Amino acid sequence: MHTAHDLTRFPAWGVYGHDWAIDFLERGLRYGRTRHAYLFLGPDHIGKTSLAAAFAMKLNCQHEDEAQRPCGVCRSCRLLRSGNHPDLLTVVGDERSGQIKIDSVREVMNLLALKPYASRYRVALLTDFDRAQPRAQDALLKTLEEPASHAVLLLIANERSAILPTILSRCQVLPLRPPDQATIEAVLRQVGLAQDQAALLARLSGGRIGWALGAAQEGAVLANRAAYLDSLVELLHSKRQARFKQADELGKVAAKDKGVARYVVETWLSYWRDLVLLGQGQAALICNLDREAELVRLAGLILADDALRALRETRHFLVEVLPTNANVRLALEVLMLEYPFLGQAAR
Ligand SMILES: [Zn+2]
Repeated sequence: MHTAHDLTRFPAWGVYGHDWAIDFLERGLRYGRTRHAYLFLGPDHIGKTSLAAAFAMKLNCQHEDEAQRPCGVCRSCRLLRSGNHPDLLTVVGDERSGQIKIDSVREVMNLLALKPYASRYRVALLTDFDRAQPRAQDALLKTLEEPASHAVLLLIANERSAILPTILSRCQVLPLRPPDQATIEAVLRQVGLAQDQAALLARLSGGRIGWALGAAQEGAVLANRAAYLDSLVELLHSKRQARFKQADELGKVAAKDKGVARYVVETWLSYWRDLVLLGQGQAALICNLDREAELVRLAGLILADDALRALRETRHFLVEVLPTNANVRLALEVLMLEYPFLGQAAR
């Protein structure tokens, strides 16, 4: 029997944590039940696009033994990996709006109808499909209703609700869930991380395996996180004036790049969640494992209600304020004054 983190089984298709979906797609191929359209559904950074790309690789791999596909080394696999496969067509969202344009969809559907150059299938990969306007989604209908025998559509989306029912009903939907922590930890061990680092990143990732692998390769991710957490702890020990200054600085960051500001505050959110968990006696569930001693010390200084309020306000900022056009600097001031004042930091 293999478990989800049986190392000998890694990596099926070079994809981690979606074994059931891989089994399902392989069975379809084996019994000649390949569909013309698949929808890979699930939250960000869990490996939807990696899985879809691996399936595309499987479909066109030239290895003689079907069980060995995708081999990763044949000409087709190599072209796919480098993004130069003539029979893989991709549609991504517009750089500025993130939306998929109807013209791009039409163009790719026309190309998809043509015979493959050198493969069994022509494959179209459409990422962020829930960000396609209904008209752009409609542009798929003709292909879905009368697909060319060699055509395979792979759609990627976060939310089922944003996909038109006419599209959904013609797709094989694969609802993907974030890989569990043990799987991510095992993958990180495989790419060479030490046990404690792997455990930490697996906890921090919250199932976003793409993020975890990126962080494993890029030391800056953990270094930044440490700096963000240091700044939060410093903030808790500072007076009003210092907090205004900090809000001003982070406000400037947000004005330039909301993504960076979001990442800072998300990191803080993880810390508040840990403090609340500690207040509830749930030490085993905290995710900032490397800061446990500091967290325990702070949990002794901060009232459980205050930690809970800070958690709520931080989440409110991330969900309700940051994505809007609200005055971010002002909202950050309010947020930072909501955080408890520790030690000599009088209000
Ligand atoms: Zn191959």
